[in-house]
Amino acid sequence: MRIGILALQGAVAPHQAKLAALGVEAPAVREAAGLEGLDGLILPGGESTTFLKLIGHFGLAQPLKAFAETRPLWGVCAGTILLARRVENPSQRSLGILPFTVRRNGYGRQNESFIAGFELRLPGRPAVSQEGVFIRAPHVTARDDGVQVLGEHEGWPVALQYGRHLATTFHPELSEAGHLHRYFIALCEDASQRRASG
Ligand code: GLN
Repeated sequence: MRIGILALQGAVAPHQAKLAALGVEAPAVREAAGLEGLDGLILPGGESTTFLKLIGHFGLAQPLKAFAETRPLWGVCAGTILLARRVENPSQRSLGILPFTVRRNGYGRQNESFIAGFELRLPGRPAVSQEGVFIRAPHVTARDDGVQVLGEHEGWPVALQYGRHLATTFHPELSEAGHLHRYFIALCEDASQRRASG
């Protein structure tokens, strides 16, 4: 199992440490060739506008969309913004892979960053309590029917799944629990088995 971390910018090393602890190789990906042979990819937190510029500069938009057709992506905070179909506050381009709308910096100025617990309901697993580290996180303000909500905080979806893809508006790589990394590995294994059985 090899799960790449899009390493143009942002919080890369903590994801690599989490995956390494779970026995998964996690190469940093900076160009399209780096996607080859990967079972999944994490788009980490950072600054989505900077990511967008670098994705354009390195010609990564099409390769990422093609990758998403057969392999799982997991967007974390800014990564979620990049994957959303629509971005507001202000509106900006995105990869448009996940059918939901996000509002950047949804928690506003006085509460830009905070830590809060909530119930995480991963399909096929018992519900657990998860710590959420929110850093200038977006709000998911609208979504299509096929988008599953795996956790909410104050009524806002903070963990979502769409088919093989995952999105979290908080930073699970900064908390001790490994539920979401383990779950993403399972999604990647599942997708890899599907590809193998044609
Ligand atoms: N507010 C940032 C953005 O809009 C995201 C912050 C994060 O990834 N922690 O890109």
